[in-house]
Amino acid sequence: MTSDRQVALARAQAAYDEVRARGLKLNMQRGQPSDADFDLSNALLGALGDTDVTMDGIDLRNYPGGVAGLPSARRLFASYLDVKAENVIVWNNASLELQAFVLTFALLHGTRHSTGPWVHQRPKMIVTTPGYDRHFLLLQTLGFELLTVDMQADGPDVDAVERLVAADPSVKGILFVPTYSNPGGETISAAKAARLAGVKAAAPDFTIMADDAYRAHHLGTADDTVNFVALSRDAGHPDRAFVFASTSKITFAGAGLGFVATSEDNVKWVSTYLNAQSIGPNKVEQARHVKFLEAYPGGIEGLMRDHAALIAPKFSAVDEVLRAELGTDGTYATWTTPRGGYFSSLDTAHPVASRVVQLAEQAGVSLTPAGATYPGGKDPHDRNIRLAPTRPPLSEVHTAMQAVAACIRLATEEHLAAQEAVPS
Ligand code: PMP
Repeated sequence: MTSDRQVALARAQAAYDEVRARGLKLNMQRGQPSDADFDLSNALLGALGDTDVTMDGIDLRNYPGGVAGLPSARRLFASYLDVKAENVIVWNNASLELQAFVLTFALLHGTRHSTGPWVHQRPKMIVTTPGYDRHFLLLQTLGFELLTVDMQADGPDVDAVERLVAADPSVKGILFVPTYSNPGGETISAAKAARLAGVKAAAPDFTIMADDAYRAHHLGTADDTVNFVALSRDAGHPDRAFVFASTSKITFAGAGLGFVATSEDNVKWVSTYLNAQSIGPNKVEQARHVKFLEAYPGGIEGLMRDHAALIAPKFSAVDEVLRAELGTDGTYATWTTPRGGYFSSLDTAHPVASRVVQLAEQAGVSLTPAGATYPGGKDPHDRNIRLAPTRPPLSEVHTAMQAVAACIRLATEEHLAAQEAVPS
């Protein structure tokens, strides 16, 4: 090993040892709101008084009301998703559950354009990488084979999607995040969204599942959002798109509302199967959300601005600390600077992501496991790390990112030293 290399390694080791000696206990792993974020919505808890037993002329306490949700809730979230109330089903907590329902109904019964249940067709779904581990888990648990395409700065690699769907009718769809993606923060461009909506697929039932979890979660100037329901209709595929979202990162992550927008015919299709398994969603929660969100100054947009005021400084801190500690020439790592959403995606310059996460754990900083952003938890390049700065207070984000930077430097120097040690 050259003496320069030895010095760099010794320096990185000393800096890391110093961090480790501090006995930190910090968490940059969870994509959760902070308590201050939750506090913005505490009035939700008391939004209904003890005489508020009806909404839209429907008794909130009794069964009748149907499976598509309270009319007021459908209107509110239709406006959020830029569609008509008839295009929306508002369900209970968690949009992931609605995603699972739609996939399960398709597996068991086929969609409106299927030749039969998907489960008999060895179905495949396209996902984007790096991506959201729960999408991979859901699809794999339901038995789908996953095909991956890259998430690019302007959305999924649509060239790759076109190639995958052109000849194989078992490729049933794509599940991805259209706005401020998890983990990179990318938003799909209008041009790519239109191409995807009109893609020529061998499967007559090719389905776009857009998980628009971060549609309104701007950190500064808002990215333009797309409307897959309208785009698919305009492309001659009126039933192709399902757009999912929830209030998990608007009000309460564990006690919000999930909803889905799609064609009116698909609303009927989903409702048939929902109706077989439930008399209807929790109408009290829906009414509470309607009253709270309509009364909030500026409505949902106003609430999201207040979230941004709490969250944006944390993302700035991630970027500032990484720039200061690692420079901007990519020697150690590159990372995204998202304009919205909940995550930043970091790529190490060398295949050391799992070593970085291990070093961080040993120094008391918990990071999303390396590989989580790829199906099966396996990053083929061992380079990607998802950073989640929303939950910890700002001061902790600073400290945690300094520690992460020290881990990246040490893991990189270890790797380079080991490479030099290998006889050529
Ligand atoms: N989709 C994405 C892309 C997410 O990042 C998350 C939360 N991490 C969810 C869905 C979870 O949403 P919900 O709580 O509505 O199930």
